[in-house]
Amino acid sequence: MQAKSVALITGANQGIGLQIAKELAAAGFKVLIGSRNPERGEAAAREVGFDAVMIQLDVTDQVSITNAASRVRQEFGRLDVLIQNAAIASASDHAQTSEELAQAGRPSVISPGDIRAIWDTNVFGVLAVYQAMLPILRDTPNSRIINISSGAGSLTLNSNRDFPLRPLFDAGYAASKAALNALTVAMAIELEAEGISVNAVSPGYTKTQLTGFAGTDSVEEGAAEAVRIALQTETMPSGTFTHATLGVVPW
Ligand code: NAP
Repeated sequence: MQAKSVALITGANQGIGLQIAKELAAAGFKVLIGSRNPERGEAAAREVGFDAVMIQLDVTDQVSITNAASRVRQEFGRLDVLIQNAAIASASDHAQTSEELAQAGRPSVISPGDIRAIWDTNVFGVLAVYQAMLPILRDTPNSRIINISSGAGSLTLNSNRDFPLRPLFDAGYAASKAALNALTVAMAIELEAEGISVNAVSPGYTKTQLTGFAGTDSVEEGAAEAVRIALQTETMPSGTFTHATLGVVPW
């Protein structure tokens, strides 16, 4: 079995996931870079250094997920931290501003197929990875799951007519993050008796490809809350939704 604590981060070849990988590797973790594209994942693993290992993992492909879980079990024998970070903002590859995404994601406009594509990654992908990795998490003392959500998915914030980002609440990405929050609560409830914590974090508006690099925050700021929870040594809370500087985010 791997002597170091092991962290697997989905979608870690770039953006916030890559930054989380760098910080956990520097903190002494064996970091597994989940990447749907092996070349991009290998490049990220080299950038992280510290023996980071690329694991091919497409969260929409059950074969890929099953193979990744087998590799984690056989090569490392433990999984201390699972960070569910992979997500897409849109079913289209075209760069779009937040306003364009919100317009395209209006319930009256978005096609069911486009909603399914977004939810396949952001919701069902998270569930499938959870189910595949759970036996290994259960065999690892003090293990934890961190779901990378978004304040954009907060039903409470978006129910307030004064919330400035409310016009961006769409049926695609934002609703997928609300569904991810619901999954997070269900997972936390399922695992609370076993001591495996499940928490959602909001990175904040971060300069990454997902935002067309229009975010206001650095990847270091975007990664901060996930890294804090991953490294927490005192008793873990579970079923929380938090941001690094804003604290508790309402569901
Ligand atoms: P990003 O740079 O676009 O990174 C997204 C990552 O997800 C990429 O590595 C991408 O891989 C991967 N991915 C997409 N579909 C995948 C799939 N089917 N299987 C495996 N990996 C897949 O965006 P980011 O901003 O760092 O996003 C990271 C997380 O933060 C997401 O959950 C996002 O919703 C959340 N978030 C971001 C912001 C923000 O302002 N940036 C705000 C709130 C929440 P490829 O390189 O292969 O496409």
